[in-house]
Amino acid sequence: MIGLPWLSKWLNPLVMLIGVLAVGFLPAALGLTDVIDQVFITHVHADHISGVVSLIWYYMLTGRKRELLIAGPQGLRNTVLSLMEAMGTPLDRVEPWLRFRELKAGERIGCALTARALHTVPSLAYRIDLERAICYTGGYLPYGGGDKTGQGL
Ligand SMILES: [Zn+2]
Repeated sequence: MIGLPWLSKWLNPLVMLIGVLAVGFLPAALGLTDVIDQVFITHVHADHISGVVSLIWYYMLTGRKRELLIAGPQGLRNTVLSLMEAMGTPLDRVEPWLRFRELKAGERIGCALTARALHTVPSLAYRIDLERAICYTGGYLPYGGGDKTGQGL
């Protein structure tokens, strides 16, 4: 790990919130690519998901064996698989370690708690509880309407 020990400490236990830069560029630039085990997607717009395939290809080409979990809103798995197919990804090389989990608002997965977020497509906001809690909404607001799912983040 290079340069930013406070960031690497913060990222353990291997949680990464992503946009295209975070997946395609930022982890490599910071020397963090090989510590990522979970990727949380807020929604499937291109600026938030297109880098996932690059990350998967990086792991495929470097011989990853450890499980990688891609988690996000409903429809995530089919969207990522469609992108992978369009880019000619040999699925037999990633299936041994690539996992998907589609989440619902209010669901907890490890240190992450989800909430519904307002956007034009199904979207989640995340609260990540590590040494400190942080919230990531993907650039929009957690939903605070009638079902109050966005509250408590
Ligand atoms: Zn969007």
